[in-house]
Amino acid sequence: MRYDVAVIGAGPAGLFAALELADSGLSTVVVEKGQAPRERRSITCGVGGAGAFSDGKLNLTPRIGGDPAAIGCSVAELAELIAYVDHVFTRYGAPAQYSGEDPKALARLKKAAAEAGVEFISGRQRHIGTGCIREVIDAMYRDLLDRGVAFRLGDEVKAIAWANDEFVVDLGEEQIHAGAVIAAPGRVGAYWLREVARSLGVGPQFGPLDVGVRVEFPAELYDPIERVMYDAKFRVRTPTYDDMVRTFCTNPRGFVVQEDHDEFVLVNGHAENECKTENTNFALLVHIELTDPVEDTTEYGRAIAKLATTIGGGRPILQRLKDLQQGRRSTADRIRRVSIQPTLAAFTPGDISMALPHRVVVDLVEAIDVLDRIMPGIASEGTLVYAPEIKFYDTQYRVGAGMETGLPGFYVVGDASGHSRGIVFAALTGILAARHIKARPG
Ligand SMILES: Cc1cc2nc3c(=O)[nH]c(=O)nc-3n(C[C@H](O)[C@H](O)[C@H](O)COP(=O)(O)OP(=O)(O)OC[C@H]3O[C@@H](n4cnc5c(N)ncnc54)[C@H](O)[C@@H]3O)c2cc1C
Repeated sequence: MRYDVAVIGAGPAGLFAALELADSGLSTVVVEKGQAPRERRSITCGVGGAGAFSDGKLNLTPRIGGDPAAIGCSVAELAELIAYVDHVFTRYGAPAQYSGEDPKALARLKKAAAEAGVEFISGRQRHIGTGCIREVIDAMYRDLLDRGVAFRLGDEVKAIAWANDEFVVDLGEEQIHAGAVIAAPGRVGAYWLREVARSLGVGPQFGPLDVGVRVEFPAELYDPIERVMYDAKFRVRTPTYDDMVRTFCTNPRGFVVQEDHDEFVLVNGHAENECKTENTNFALLVHIELTDPVEDTTEYGRAIAKLATTIGGGRPILQRLKDLQQGRRSTADRIRRVSIQPTLAAFTPGDISMALPHRVVVDLVEAIDVLDRIMPGIASEGTLVYAPEIKFYDTQYRVGAGMETGLPGFYVVGDASGHSRGIVFAALTGILAARHIKARPG
């Protein structure tokens, strides 16, 4: 089969690219190794990507979720694109509620954070919610089918080659030919993509990596902040190493979940619309940059993830904060003494300091102590920590206008490009690529 455009991956980046290409007169196929929205079970794979199993917190500010300069967009252009992505989500059924809109409450929180030595990054957010986002993604998917976009579900792209002036997308037993390729395989496909990109001569560079834990604690501790901003972002500079540690993806009354990768497991979190827990969780991540001679942050991150998975016996490690602070392993019995119930069902009680680098552990413990000044109680005995939480945005591609790589017609978008860290930025990079293709002569 031959198409004008082949989109690899049906996460937010791939879906928004396809929406933009529908009705353009260009034939488009989306190849997705997972299943349709109503059939999928995987957290990371299937139509909607990792985004469809998230609780759909849309960060509607250029300051959260990506690096505007790296994708060549002015702040004004970005603001327009962000508003457009938000508009599309509402058109397919996202609820019309925002948080983070009360300037006085935001200013009060910013002041309190500053007094505690914490940076608070504010911004408008829409919270779609887990149940609803699956409906929204399903509506998008059905609309794309109605508008003539072809979907190849359950097909994994093995390789991409450039031959005779076209791309050859190898599905193993079959090949798809395309005039342009938009690669949007997400974090789950980022490692695969870097090999493909190298074979095409557009190998990536390595950027910083975020390594840390998921922190879970009684929901009441976060209630006052949630009233100001649902998923508030905080940054702390640690006393010992002066490293940057940030909170990310807060899930009020949510769940900690396991993310399965080929060779390791990670933790993540989400919140359901209908099913609330008594706990809140957020990621606490240490920002790591490597320089000569070890620049391959991806391999470094994978080595940490594999070590943690080995120590956890194939499951995430869970430790009481108190045990981590005091340098001893948590046992099942010690976990039972905590006042909250862990929301992740399958875990191994253990010692996170055996799995994460010493510097990261020191940073995390110190950051929780600082955050305790704005979320009193978080550094206390009721807090649990899960590892490993690692965000692989570190494989970064040099892109020109419209997310095009050095190979004309080959675009990398979304989290796998290293230029997005959330649904909104992933979606808008997909839009940029599709618009660039539509504007190409011939
Ligand atoms: C549990 C969880 C909660 C989250 N919560 C939020 C949140 O509230 N707000 C937010 O902004 N972000 C959240 N995120 C992050 C967000 O989901 C991602 O940033 C976003 O989905 C990235 O979009 P993407 O299109 O780049 O990639 P993805 O959504 O990861 O989609 C990539 C798709 O490509 C497919 N694929 C990969 N390789 C291949 C291949 N070789 N062949 C065919 N198909 C392939 C995968 O199956 C997948 O469906 C969350 C993530 C998780 C896991």
